[in-house]
Parts: sequence; C-alpha cells; structure tokens
Amino acid sequence: MRAVSAVALAMSGLLLSDIPAQAQNKDASKAVVLKGATLIDGLGGKPIADSVLVIKDGRISAAGDAKSVKVPAGAEVVDLKGKTIMPGMISNHSHIGIVKGLKASPDNYNREYILSQLRQWEAYGVTTITSLGLNAAEFYDLRADLHSGKAPGADIFGADRGIGVALGAPPVAIVPVGPSQVYRPDTPDAAREAIKEMAGRKTDLVKIWLDDFGKLLPVKVKPEVYGAAVDESHKNKLRVAFHINDLEDAQAALKAGGDIIAHGIRDKEVDGPTIDLMKKRAAWYVPTLALDDSNFIFADKPKVAADPFVNRALDPVVKTQLEDPAWQQKVHDAPGSERARKALAMNQKNLMTLYKAGINIGFGSDSGVGLRFPGVAEHRELDLMVEAGLTPLQALTIATSGAAKLLKLDDRGVLRAGKLADLVVLDADPTTDISNAHKISAVWHRGRPVAGSIATFAQR
Ligand SMILES: [Zn+2]
Repeated sequence: MRAVSAVALAMSGLLLSDIPAQAQNKDASKAVVLKGATLIDGLGGKPIADSVLVIKDGRISAAGDAKSVKVPAGAEVVDLKGKTIMPGMISNHSHIGIVKGLKASPDNYNREYILSQLRQWEAYGVTTITSLGLNAAEFYDLRADLHSGKAPGADIFGADRGIGVALGAPPVAIVPVGPSQVYRPDTPDAAREAIKEMAGRKTDLVKIWLDDFGKLLPVKVKPEVYGAAVDESHKNKLRVAFHINDLEDAQAALKAGGDIIAHGIRDKEVDGPTIDLMKKRAAWYVPTLALDDSNFIFADKPKVAADPFVNRALDPVVKTQLEDPAWQQKVHDAPGSERARKALAMNQKNLMTLYKAGINIGFGSDSGVGLRFPGVAEHRELDLMVEAGLTPLQALTIATSGAAKLLKLDDRGVLRAGKLADLVVLDADPTTDISNAHKISAVWHRGRPVAGSIATFAQR
C-alpha cells in the first residue's frame, strides 16, 4: 500500500492534476471501478470487451465483462471506454544501479539513483523487475521498501551478487562492479560459502555467469565451481539462473542443474538434446532479444531513439550520443554490430523453436545495462518477440503471467480477482499491433495511479 500517493505521483514526474480527480483513489478502502475498457487478463485468453475491473485495498476484487461483474454501490467509477487494460509487465532479467548516463560505476549503486530507475520502469508499465545479480548491500532495504509499498517505483526481486570468475565474467570492462557486488570464487568450497552468504541474506535467486564473451575473456567458471554453487543453492532451496551465450554452455548449465537460462542461445540453433534437457528440468528460458539489438539498433535506425516514447527515457548525455551522426556511422560499421545482428537473428529463431516445443519462456531484456534503458528495453523486447513470430498476445502473456510464474509469484501478472491491481491503461489495443503498448494512458500500481502518458514522464 502506498503511504502517500501524491508523493508517488510527484516523483514519477506526473502532476496530480494530470489524473481525473475521481481516479486519484486517495482512500484505498473505497472501491474504484475501471469500466468499459477492453481487458487483457494476462493469461492469454481473448481480450474481454466492455470490462469491469473492481479495485479494493490495492487488489482486484472482481474482473470480467459488464454482464458478469457488477459495479459495487458507492464505488468511484473511472470511465475507460475505448481504452485497453493489461497487467503491469514483469521483468525476469534487469539490473539496477549499474549504468548512469553512459557511465557504469559502483557509485551508481545508491538508493536515490535506483529509485529513479524503478520509477522509470513503472512509468513504462513494468511494475515488477528482477535485478539479476550485481547487487550491493543496499538491495535488501530497497527490496523491503518496494515490497511494502513504502517507496514508489517498480517492485524488485533479485539475485544478490551472483557468481563469476576472476579475470572473466562478468567483465569489469563492461560492468566495473566492486567485490561487494559479485563473488568470484576459485574453489568449490568458496562457491558454497558464497551461496550460504547469499542464502543468509534471503536472496530470491542465484545468478552464475558462464560465458567468455566470444573468447574475449581468458577464463570461464570451472565446472566443479559452478557445480558446487548449484548444489549448494538447491540445498538452500534457491534456484539458479545462468548467464550464457553459447549452446554448449546452456547444455552444461542444465546438466549441472540450472533452473533458468537467463539469455538466449545465440551461437547455434538449439537442438533436440537441449530441448530434452530443458524439459527434464522444467527450466525457464529468458531470451533477452533486446541485448544484441541494443548494440546496433540506435545506429542502424536513428528513428528509434528519435521516437518520443524512447527519447523521453534518455539521459541528456545518452541523447547527445545517439543523435551524433559520427557515432551512428561508427557503430553501424563496427564488426561487433554485425555479430550482434546475427546473434539477434539466431536468438529469435531459437525462441520460436523453444516456444513451439512448449518450453517455459520468461521475459527480460537485460535492461539497466548498456543502452537498454529501463522500461524502453522491455517494450523493445516485446517488439522483437513479435518480430520473431509470436503473436502480440503471446508476447504479452509471457511478459505478464509467464514472468510472474518464473518468479513463483501468484499475486500478480494476471488481472483476476485476488491479484494485485498492477495494470497499464492503453489508448489502443496492443493485441492488434504490439506498438500500441507504447500508447500508455496511465499506470496503476497496487490500486493507485502512479503515472500518466509517457509525454508527462520526466526523468530524474
Ligand atoms: Zn544481465
């Protein structure tokens, strides 16, 4: 529950006057009804026309069509005829406090900056995120405050620091984090010790990096080290998410007991044995298509950054860089961009293979690192999932109920009675055109409006 909704609104850059008085919902115990919108429930069912959604005490008390759900007497009614409502999105792979502007620094892991990022995610319709590793000690107070609604912004779950390797991943050149943000154990015993510490702090997940970034790094975590880390995690009832790039590493991660493949397989086509391994482990797969895309898209298509929906989220120094023709030319021509284009194509192909095979697909863009701007990157991910061949409704289902299921959260991601009232009001239906998901009219978090259209969003 929000203590002071006016504060939340002011901090998200939205003025109270931007929201109709009847929708401000100052008294949470009073029912508010969102009426007349097309409702996407998050479970993949056909959108419900002329819906009624009743919110009470931050939760949905009823949702359905106007024939089956009655408006309670005395409720505040918000007319949303012509609009579409969908659940707030949930990211399974993001990072907080890493990059500010163009600079990655351990100093960015501070409460004030992270809260500004969480407000941005929320304003873009992402009401829950997973900070998948590289978290400093401040994470736990933040998590408690976001869980309780004491602080405004997207709710957070996380994978504490995570397990990497000295001189290897995660590469300090890309993410210059200090020792308080990542473990680099060199023995199985040290790995077990690291897992015990993270379990003691009540981390939600464990993250392991198994990648040499195309042989750019001289080492990978040794099998006996990640094997011990997975074993110790499972002993502590923690699931393990593996950062991978290559098919071979994905297989190794699954054979070691990995529960979540946290990036798409991008070097080769996914094969039968890998699908069997994923099925056997009921593993989750988070493609993060936006990762490679972000390495070339702003150079290849300057119009993407010029779109006000994207532009609004950019730090001024980032804006200057993305609009610089010399930078665009350099990035467009860079060999890394060509590799990224190919990696994205392979990632999209593998996503479809795995989706059709019935593998659990999660949602995440690796936002918060590189040029993957909080909130914007999640929308980019949706676009790329649809470009890969999923229908908009399939992509939205993954981004809502699917992502909630990955996190074992049964209180969100779905617009049904009993769930948290985390939702996005759109001016147009995204199931007919995924870019309609950009047309945000308002975001509601735990039963209160916390943001309006992106045009009213101000970055802090
Ligand atoms: Zn990541």
